Amino acid sequence: MTGTITLVGGGPGDPELLTVAACRALATADVVFLDKLAPQQAVADWAPGAEVVDVGKRPGHHAVPQQQIEQQMIARARRGQRVVRLKGGDPFVLGRGHEELQAAEAAGVPVRVIPGISSAVAVPAAAGIPVTHRGIAHGYTVLSGHVPPTDEQLDALVRLGSTLVVLMGIGTLPQLGAGLLRAGMAATTPVAAVERGTAPDQQVTTSDLAGLLTGALHAVRSPAVVVIGEVVRLGDASRLEAGHRVAS
Ligand code: SAH
Repeated sequence: MTGTITLVGGGPGDPELLTVAACRALATADVVFLDKLAPQQAVADWAPGAEVVDVGKRPGHHAVPQQQIEQQMIARARRGQRVVRLKGGDPFVLGRGHEELQAAEAAGVPVRVIPGISSAVAVPAAAGIPVTHRGIAHGYTVLSGHVPPTDEQLDALVRLGSTLVVLMGIGTLPQLGAGLLRAGMAATTPVAAVERGTAPDQQVTTSDLAGLLTGALHAVRSPAVVVIGEVVRLGDASRLEAGHRVAS
């Protein structure tokens, strides 16, 4: 008898932001493969009896390599177990969820995906920033900071005029800021970095585009979502001085 793999989006961190489907999948799981940014409390709340395999990166430790995670999940499913892969945010937003789906399908293991609330939208919202607002931004573009945009792409982004939402971008912010300035984005464009969004110790730091080059956000640590665009002025941090940090 083959088990199943369910790829579950766990939302941005606050366990209240799990979906009903996520809670149901957790409640019937035999084993939960837990990501670093997945809401840990969700397992205690909804899967207290399940075995937990923590495959997330911890300071000083390496994350379990992607292929090993996939192989371990497939091996468990082949033993007949109901495997839940609990991921942060949405599995298909910069989360390698589709790679895991493909691996399971290639192995002939039934696999299901439960979408989650992505940090790309929910973390700005937790700081009061709407990623779109009529008359200000008609769309938003989600970027990974791991893959720096080319000059051509930066030009296109600036011309598009949508809100930019950068994930995994703390290490490369000065380069991104310089690139956007080169491409013609206004130096006064507001920027907000929201650290540990939806957690009790969430922090918001604001700057403008020019400030990214002078280290205004140097104290910000991962995980953080960076929002670049006029919608930042609508947020709860809008009255802050550049570089000022607040705990919300
Ligand atoms: N699939 C996830 C994103 C995975 S990439 C999703 O849809 O949300 C990991 C990045 O997400 C982090 O580096 C950070 O930029 C962002 N992130 C996830 N949770 C966060 C949180 N609670 N607060 C701030 N940033 C978060």
